[in-house]
Amino acid sequence: MKPRMGQGLGRATTPHSADTDMGETQIIGATSIDRNRELQRVEAALKRLERGQFGHCLYCGDRIDLERLQHDPAVESCDTCEED
Ligand SMILES: [Zn+2]
Repeated sequence: MKPRMGQGLGRATTPHSADTDMGETQIIGATSIDRNRELQRVEAALKRLERGQFGHCLYCGDRIDLERLQHDPAVESCDTCEED
């Protein structure tokens, strides 16, 4: 009787499918946060475009290198300020 109970408990305490579900949820959560942040950066860049401030550093107001903007159009700072 005792061994049978042990087996039953062992199966119950290792819910394999639940572990897999948790892992997948965590991965999806991380990517959706990344996507959210990226969206906010793009929206901020569009607002700067509306105000005629696009392509200028948020911190010092200098023009951002064209190469930098081509690499990441939503970039918010120039080379100098990025390093700080
Ligand atoms: Zn700057």
